[in-house]
Amino acid sequence: MSRPALRFAPSPNGRLHLGHAFSALTNARIADDLGGRLLLRIEDIDLGRTRPAFVQGLLDDLAWLGVSFDGPVRRQSEHFSDYARARDALAGRKLLYPCFCSRGRIAAAVAEREASGVAAARDPDGAPLYPGTCRALSGDEVRARIQAGAPHTWRLDGAAALAQVTAPLVIRRFAPDGAEETVPADPARWGDAVIARRDVPTSYHLAVVWDDAEQDISHVVRGQDLAAATDLHVLLQHLLGLPSPAYHHHGLIRDETGDKLAKSKGSESLADLRSRGITPSAIRSMLGFA
Ligand code: GLU
Repeated sequence: MSRPALRFAPSPNGRLHLGHAFSALTNARIADDLGGRLLLRIEDIDLGRTRPAFVQGLLDDLAWLGVSFDGPVRRQSEHFSDYARARDALAGRKLLYPCFCSRGRIAAAVAEREASGVAAARDPDGAPLYPGTCRALSGDEVRARIQAGAPHTWRLDGAAALAQVTAPLVIRRFAPDGAEETVPADPARWGDAVIARRDVPTSYHLAVVWDDAEQDISHVVRGQDLAAATDLHVLLQHLLGLPSPAYHHHGLIRDETGDKLAKSKGSESLADLRSRGITPSAIRSMLGFA
């Protein structure tokens, strides 16, 4: 068996906070326990929010915290052509369709259906499932819109994808003490998820399963907030013929109001803590890694 490989995969759209530190330290501890490698992947597909200063900031913060990585750092923005190939392969099998709906249009369609008494099913993140408007477009209409340069995402045709599944879809879960269990996956709860965005030829979901396979990741360790996405990830792995790693979703560090920490909510960053004179070892012991 090859050596276990784990990855820490932050998105450089803000400075790292204690939640990231907890995730990085959990990855490092489990990699150590398994005698595995720990890789760093920078998930910078969101070109509008990525900043070079945030990339440098996360490298500095992780070094300051004392988390070290094996092998070269992988940056997703350098692999768009690979994701485009995977997207095109799925689209070629009619498992994806172009979607021209803006967010506002989707919200209006959902509101209209709800007004007529049809409650919108919601995905595990609480967003209404896409009502499938563009799934019904004719081939001619799609070609005309694409030729006219209409911006579009690519959505998974969830029903068509599930119809191609030839084996039970399962998630291999592992606990830090090594115990493994296999649980059924239920990707249908994501409906027709966006697999490639308008601006780049991938979404988080496609890039993450592609890269986990490309980097030979055997064990994925990430926050509980991404547990439900795993159902979709194992479906994509199955469709693309990629191996499926084992998963551990750790608890989240919360603020005093019980919310998970987030850059968007201005949670105190590791850089802020550092400038207040807090040491890496204080952070480690605060997070239970003394
Ligand atoms: N880039 C994601 C984040 O920062 C993590 C992705 C993953 O671990 O699968 O939340």
